[in-house]
Amino acid sequence: MKNIVLFGPPGAGKGTQAEILKKKYQLVHISTGDVFRYNIKNATELGTLAKSYMDRGNLVPDEVTINMLNAEVEKNVGANGFIFDGFPRTPVQAEALAKLMDERESQINAMVALEVNDEILVERLLERGKSSGRPDDANEEVIRERISEYYRKTDILKEYYQKQGKYFGVDGVGSIEEIFERLSEVINKL
Ligand code: ADP
Repeated sequence: MKNIVLFGPPGAGKGTQAEILKKKYQLVHISTGDVFRYNIKNATELGTLAKSYMDRGNLVPDEVTINMLNAEVEKNVGANGFIFDGFPRTPVQAEALAKLMDERESQINAMVALEVNDEILVERLLERGKSSGRPDDANEEVIRERISEYYRKTDILKEYYQKQGKYFGVDGVGSIEEIFERLSEVINKL
């Protein structure tokens, strides 16, 4: 049983890699961004609330996000393990995840982080914005705010997992296959 936090700033390629990793390792992929977008599309109360933050490039409040994440994990009781993509994004979320894993008599095995410099991130997100239909990718100001939010609130989580000996950084620049190989090398050793 492996539970992996796939980490990195917006545009680092977490979603792309999670899609292929989940097949290789038979893991359930939970993307908090995808769950929020699903709720926005279906005009749920959660979606309306999340949208007000996402459109500005800010994080959705912890309590809302944590409740949603708990519910997603709950839906997959028999899972072999999880890839968490876009969660945790704050220390409070990381503590909540540790508690949730503990309750399931499990744990996070590793945070695997995709490392990509900021200018490449902005380029990638603007490019994605041309076809993704995501309003938060269409505007450079919102993209830069998401990256700032990442440095203000999320980047610190590296230290949180480093202290537990669970942090693994991987170069996130290269072809999809090359990056997949780098991630696999780390995960195979867990
Ligand atoms: P990206 O990493 O490309 O910015 P995501 O799809 O992971 O995009 O997330 C999109 C948005 O959803 C974020 O900018 C944020 O507003 C919200 N969001 C996603 N995950 C979280 C989280 N764990 N905590 C708070 N907000 C979140």
